[in-house]
Amino acid sequence: MVGPVAPATSALPRLDPGVTSPGAGLSRDAGEVYGGALTEAERARILAKSALFDPPPIALPDGRRELVGLSRTELAAELAAIGEAPFRTKQLWHWIYHQGVTDFSRMSSIARPLQAKLAERFVIGRPDTVIAQTSEDDTRKFLFRFRDGQEAETVYIPDPEEDRGAVCLSSQVGCTLSCRFCHTGTQTLVRNLGAAEIVGQFMAARDAYGEWPSPKGETPRLLSTIVLMGMGEPLYNYANVAKAMTIVMDGEGIGLSRRRITLSTSGVVPMMDRAGAELGVNLAVSLHAVRDDLRDELVPLNRKYPIAELIAACRRYPGASNARRITFEYVMLRGINDTEADARELVRLIAGLPAKVNLIPFNPWPGSAYQTSTRPAIEHFARIVNDAGFAAPVRSPRGRDILAACGQLRTESRRDAARRAAAE
Ligand code: SAH
Ligand code: SF4
Repeated sequence: MVGPVAPATSALPRLDPGVTSPGAGLSRDAGEVYGGALTEAERARILAKSALFDPPPIALPDGRRELVGLSRTELAAELAAIGEAPFRTKQLWHWIYHQGVTDFSRMSSIARPLQAKLAERFVIGRPDTVIAQTSEDDTRKFLFRFRDGQEAETVYIPDPEEDRGAVCLSSQVGCTLSCRFCHTGTQTLVRNLGAAEIVGQFMAARDAYGEWPSPKGETPRLLSTIVLMGMGEPLYNYANVAKAMTIVMDGEGIGLSRRRITLSTSGVVPMMDRAGAELGVNLAVSLHAVRDDLRDELVPLNRKYPIAELIAACRRYPGASNARRITFEYVMLRGINDTEADARELVRLIAGLPAKVNLIPFNPWPGSAYQTSTRPAIEHFARIVNDAGFAAPVRSPRGRDILAACGQLRTESRRDAARRAAAE
């Protein structure tokens, strides 16, 4: 989660135990070239490891099955299995994702007996909202609980000037990576979120704002963009993330354009190619350092996929253009990565790329090894990047007042859930 938290100074980077083998797995092989058979094998390995963290199958104690999160093909198969005609798939899809209906009895184009039959076998669920808090700047943070009691946060960040805003979705509970400045990085990966849970976060946020039916075409939307920047590394849960985004982009349902979706990665190079080719969503890359020695420390995944490979993957990213620039995220850490030399090296690294740089002032946390860069340092850095022809907005923190409080509440809530589960 983009939180005001960083790990304690003492912790050595925790090496990605779920997805790579520590030690040898993170060694850098200068000869490795991404794009051939080696990449395919690497991708297969990542996908296989990710699958080990998949959520339990969704079935209620009474045997009813969840329809949210199924692909169209899967939905068709469920309906075929109960003897319903293929055209019902389109009908249900419309009610679930266009109308946002969760109650079969409200599906007016479906006759009563079939409504009852569907309700006996299926549910159209949402995660439970444990906490919804609104910041003084109107940013809203949700703590959602899923069927097995696991929880994740979702944040809605409204545009202060217009009736639109970004929904920041989580892709995992915890994270296998351990970026030194990130709160999520101090938690071990609990599990991946399933497609139903990823789409469910968005649908539940839409419920909270009453934004149903899904606005069509260019009709303005309050929840107008999705950023996969919440808890977890989306490219280490690619299968579920891809399925969820395919559902969200479907024109007969939620119908959000791929141009309105941004996936943020800490740099899982082999999966960047796949995400670009299959989903075509916007890409954001958490760069944070321009030298391998420093990035190895801040973003330990850099030991596996160093800066040169990361930038090469950005250069290959399909669909990147001046209209659809790659975003480089750069957390400003005082005295660590914020010098003029860093700014100049950054510009050199991304030269020729259709890119912009989001400068994110770090939110310090008691006990953290880092401090936010000074305002003059941030401005000087931004000016150098800007003068080189790249937009370099300084991201003002949103919802800061509730982020701090909510980070703690969330921890409490997880403990409560665990205790309750143990007691049951
Ligand atoms: N795992 C993905 C997406 C989630 S993090 C990734 O790393 O890109 C979304 C962004 O928030 C990343 O750029 C991350 O580096 C940044 N971030 C994490 N902790 C932060 C903090 N304490 N202050 C500011 N930004 C932070
Ligand atoms: Fe945090 Fe993203 Fe790093 Fe995971 S990959 S620890 S979510 S910054």
